[in-house]
Amino acid sequence: MPQYETVVGLEIHVELATATKVFCGCTTAFGGEQNTHVCPVCMGLPGALPVLNRQAVEYAVRAGLALNCNITRNAVFDRKHYFYPDLPKAFQISQLYLPLCTDGWVEVFGKRVRIREIHMEEDAGKLVHDPWTDSTLVDFNRCGVPLIEIVTQPDMRTPEETVETVRQIRAALSMLGVSDCKMQEGSLRVDVNLSVRPMGSTALGTRTEMKNINSLKSIGRAVAGETARQIEQIELGRPIIQQTRRWDDNKNASMAMRSKEDAHDYRYFPEPDLAPLSLSDEWIESRRAALPELPEQKRVRYPAEFGLSAYDTDILVSEKTLCELFERTAAICGKPKDAANWIMGEILAALKERGESPDQLTLAPEALARIITLQSGGEINRNAARQTLTAALAGETSDVDEYIKANQLAMVGDASALMEIVKQVINADPDSDAAYRSGKEKVFGFLMGQAMRALKGKGDPGRLKELLKQGLG
Ligand SMILES: [Zn+2]
Repeated sequence: MPQYETVVGLEIHVELATATKVFCGCTTAFGGEQNTHVCPVCMGLPGALPVLNRQAVEYAVRAGLALNCNITRNAVFDRKHYFYPDLPKAFQISQLYLPLCTDGWVEVFGKRVRIREIHMEEDAGKLVHDPWTDSTLVDFNRCGVPLIEIVTQPDMRTPEETVETVRQIRAALSMLGVSDCKMQEGSLRVDVNLSVRPMGSTALGTRTEMKNINSLKSIGRAVAGETARQIEQIELGRPIIQQTRRWDDNKNASMAMRSKEDAHDYRYFPEPDLAPLSLSDEWIESRRAALPELPEQKRVRYPAEFGLSAYDTDILVSEKTLCELFERTAAICGKPKDAANWIMGEILAALKERGESPDQLTLAPEALARIITLQSGGEINRNAARQTLTAALAGETSDVDEYIKANQLAMVGDASALMEIVKQVINADPDSDAAYRSGKEKVFGFLMGQAMRALKGKGDPGRLKELLKQGLG
C-alpha cells in the first residue's frame, strides 16, 4: 500500500473594513435594503469611472507588511473577465501581473508557510433565490466592497497545519484592524486547493479547489475528506479531474461544481481606467512603523512578561478580543495570571455554551478586573466570583459591586455577625458542644461546617474558626 502526502495551498478572501467601497463612495455597511448601497460605478453603468480608495490600499499594504511581504511600488490593476449575474460589468477589477504584495510568509508550528502574493480586488454582488416566485434576484450592495486575496504556496501537508495557517493569518489581520475577519458573515472566506502525491515525490498531483469554506472546523474536515476521496480515486485507477468542488460539511464530502478555470480563461488585461499605483519608500516605511503589536510578538511577550504558558498564550493571541480583554484586565487589577485563568476557563466555556465566538465577547475589562480584585482580597469567594462573572457575561449587570450587594454575595467577615452564627450553631446542638468539651476534637469540624452552611459558604474561614473556638471554650 503506497503512502500518500497531501499538498494544500490556500486562497483567502478578506473584506477590508473601509467605510466606503474600493472604487466609489458607496457605503460598505453590512445589511441594508437591497440595492440601496449602489451608484453608477459599482453598478457598472457605461461611462462610469472608478476612483481608487486610498484607505483600501493602506489596509492592503498593512496586511502585506504584517505577513512579511514585499510591497510592490508600482502595482497595477487588471480586468478579470467572466460572466455571472452578480457581476454587472462582466469583469472584476483585480491584480494579476503586478500584485500589491509578494513573497511573504507566516510561521506555523515552527515552519514557514510561504505567501505567494496578496492582491487587491472588488467583491461581487449577491444572488438571492426567491422561493415565492421561484426566481433569482440580485443584490448589488456588496458589489465593489474592497477585498484582498491572500494566496499561499502549496506548503501545508495536514488538516492541522492548514487550520493553523488560517488561524494565524486571521489573528494577524484582526489585530491590524484591517478586517473584522468574521468567517460566519463571509468577511473572511477560504478556498482550499488540494492534491495528493506518493510520499517522496516532488511533482504536484492534479488539484481540486474547494471554495468558500466558512469555519475553521470545516476547513480541517474538508482537507481530511478530500484527501481520502483523492486517494480512493487513485487507488481505483481513476484520474483526478482538475475542478472546483463544494465542501458539504453535513455530508462530510465534496461535490463537483465545475471544471476549474486557468488564468488564461479570464482574458486578463490591464485596467485602462486606473493608473498604476505609486507608493514611496517613505510612505511604506511609515506604515511599517505604525503597525500594532502582532500575534507573533505577543507570543514571545506574554510568557516572558506575565509568565503565561505557551498553550494559554496561543489561545489568547489567536483572538483580538481575548488579547484586549486580557491586557486591559491585567493592567487594571495587576493580576495577569488570574485574568488569563478566568478567560481560559469560565469565559471561553460560557462562549462555547452559547455557541458564540470570541469576537462576540462584550465583557468589560473593568468588570473582570473588579471580580479578580474582590476575590483575591477575600471579599468574595470563588463561587460568588463565578456567579458574578456569569451575570456580567450574560449582560445582566454592568456594575459588579452592585450585583454582589444585591445578591448578598460578599463574604461575612464582621466579628459580631459571625459570633451571632456561632452562638446559634452551638445552642442548636448542645450534644456536640458537650462532646467537644470532653475532648472529642473532631466535633469541631462538624460545627465549623454547620456554621459555614448557615453563612451559605460566605463566612471568612479564618475568623470563623477563631470565634468558634472562643464560643466553645
Ligand atoms: Zn457605488
